[in-house]
Amino acid sequence: MKMTKLLMVFLGMLLVSANAVANVTSQTSNKNVKQPNFIVILTDDQGYADVGFNGSKDIRTPNIDRIANEGTKFTNGYVSYAVCGPSRAGLLTGRYQGRFGFGRNPVIDPTDTKAGMPLEEQMISEVLKPVGYTSSIIGKWHMGLHPKFHPNKRGFDHFYGFLNGGHDYLPKLLIHKDFNSMPKGGRHYATKLNHNYDVIEIDEYLTDELSNEAVNFIERKQDKPFFLYLAYNAPHGPMQATQEYLDRNTHIKNKKRRTYAAMITAVDDGVGRVLDKLKELSIDENTMVFFLSDNGGSRKHPSSNAPLRGNKGDYFEGGIHVPFAVRWPNHVPAGQKYENPVSSLDILGTFAALTNAPIAKERPLDGVNLMPFLTGKDVGLPHDVLFWRNFDQGTLATRRGDSKAIHSEKVGDHLYDLANDLSETTNLIDNNKTQFEQQKAEVQAWEKELIDPVFRPLAKFGKSAKKTKHTKKQ
Ligand code: CA
Repeated sequence: MKMTKLLMVFLGMLLVSANAVANVTSQTSNKNVKQPNFIVILTDDQGYADVGFNGSKDIRTPNIDRIANEGTKFTNGYVSYAVCGPSRAGLLTGRYQGRFGFGRNPVIDPTDTKAGMPLEEQMISEVLKPVGYTSSIIGKWHMGLHPKFHPNKRGFDHFYGFLNGGHDYLPKLLIHKDFNSMPKGGRHYATKLNHNYDVIEIDEYLTDELSNEAVNFIERKQDKPFFLYLAYNAPHGPMQATQEYLDRNTHIKNKKRRTYAAMITAVDDGVGRVLDKLKELSIDENTMVFFLSDNGGSRKHPSSNAPLRGNKGDYFEGGIHVPFAVRWPNHVPAGQKYENPVSSLDILGTFAALTNAPIAKERPLDGVNLMPFLTGKDVGLPHDVLFWRNFDQGTLATRRGDSKAIHSEKVGDHLYDLANDLSETTNLIDNNKTQFEQQKAEVQAWEKELIDPVFRPLAKFGKSAKKTKHTKKQ
């Protein structure tokens, strides 16, 4: 009896594997076969070390860790900018956002017709629409406040969240109907939420509201291919948590760190509910889930980017090297650690390849399809080189192989060997001038392909918004 049962389990496993292989093959060749669902879970300002899967001892993220442990964890996962708005613009288009002038956080002005994602760019939602996907953004938009930039006009069939770049978490604090009715000097974090074009009231902690809506959306859309962009604003400031989440972090004595951890606990619960819902609906093997943070932890908050140097806003690793993982049972290897550099720009590259979604020739992606690298079919590097520019700082940075170069009016010139010095402690520039100059020339050549920011900055910080010597208008 026991042997028979074992044999049946074994035969069942064979069948599952065969189906998985058939699915991967057919998804790219046959439109009639069910296409995978895509979920991108993005957190905001979460430090590299503030997830269990990167070794956090005090912040517990058992559900986020499921994505890394049941899927693949990227040890060199990057975003394309060190603060929120431009990083998201890169992720959503699969292109270096400097190509279309999204070179800073947009100004908070609902009448500004330039401060947002240019309409000619194609976001993930717009790329996937022609191949049959329903898309939802739940959480933080940050791609423009003017009505022309509204997510419902950008391929997202469903929007539940807020349009600006940050938000209060406690329902009682949300006192302004919208940006237009906000009194002069009012806090834009205190605006009410939106469901599509409607203003809505919420009665739960914001992170829980976003998780509720995510689970509901998955339930509603389970029969059709969907893309869910679950853009939590946690643990971005303001530091606000409920007593329930604080009570689950009493092992952390530092009060600020406890609040920050509590905000992540809320996200982690939400991630668990999303993963459980996929399983409950038997669609988890047909759903690819990415998890990442939009930039490094902020120095204003008790986050940790250890062992990386620097924080949000920096082009040392701590600003751009983020917690990053992907889970897709039976398609992406489980328990794998992938060490070659990858980028948030690769998310759309991967989705487009898996669905055969057309990409406009005049707006080629900078991201690549990660699947061949994840499955071991391609043992090379997804990217020979990665680039970054912060226009207002006058900073250019590049990683080629393990060699990282920074050329910056703000922090000077740097060269590091990340294989031996991930913490960027020893500047090698004096003995490696040639290497530095080669990388500098390479990133400067790339910069020529970019344009200046097309909108005003979030706030004017004196010198920070001026044009700099090496970022002249082209
Ligand atoms: Ca952020």
